[in-house]
Amino acid sequence: MTSEQSIRRQIIRTAISMNTLGINRGTSGNVSARHDKGCLITPSGLSYETTDRKDIVYIDEEGTSYGECAPSSEWRFHYDIYQNRSDVNAIVHTHSSFATALSCLRIEVPAFHYMVAICGGDNIRCAPYATFGTQKLSDHTILALANRNTCLLANHGMICLGETLDKALSLAVEVEALCEQYWRALQIGKPKLLTKKEMQIVLKKFQTYGKAKKSNVSQ
Ligand code: 13P
Ligand code: ZN
Repeated sequence: MTSEQSIRRQIIRTAISMNTLGINRGTSGNVSARHDKGCLITPSGLSYETTDRKDIVYIDEEGTSYGECAPSSEWRFHYDIYQNRSDVNAIVHTHSSFATALSCLRIEVPAFHYMVAICGGDNIRCAPYATFGTQKLSDHTILALANRNTCLLANHGMICLGETLDKALSLAVEVEALCEQYWRALQIGKPKLLTKKEMQIVLKKFQTYGKAKKSNVSQ
């Protein structure tokens, strides 16, 4: 199998996993991966279970799509993210329940838990509302993702970025857990937030977390 065919297969597997992991349902959400000068993306409105490798659409560097199916209606923000972020090779967009519930309040997730730092900073921003599939939504998204790997989309869902599809998917699971924890904490009080300084320490530790060689694990 060529590397392109293998990416097409990984995209479908990732999209199916979003649903089996319980962080998405039906044909909501979409998945893409960088390829050549453009990206490969899930088709619009097709069940992930029945999506075939040939149904995955290629979008080139000009934003032109190639394939038998229409590309995801959100191809614009996938395209714009790849253009703006050389560190990103994969994107997962889901309508997971807790992230979406918070996005309907149009609030950001603050530093209520140190794990918020996995998103790249001391909060998870919420992009302002715009109709799905529009350039306006993409523009909002790019701003909300500045120095971050994830953001909420008002009255819609969330986006997670990664170096690989596996990393983007695991981040989405983690972000959904953080949104659930924040939501639960809000039910019983006002969560005490970590300070900028406390989050800076965590952000620094995350630069090496999970990357230490076995001989260095004692620190
Ligand atoms: P697509 O099926 O077109 O990818 O749309 C799903 C979605 O989540 C739109 O925001
Ligand atoms: Zn969506």
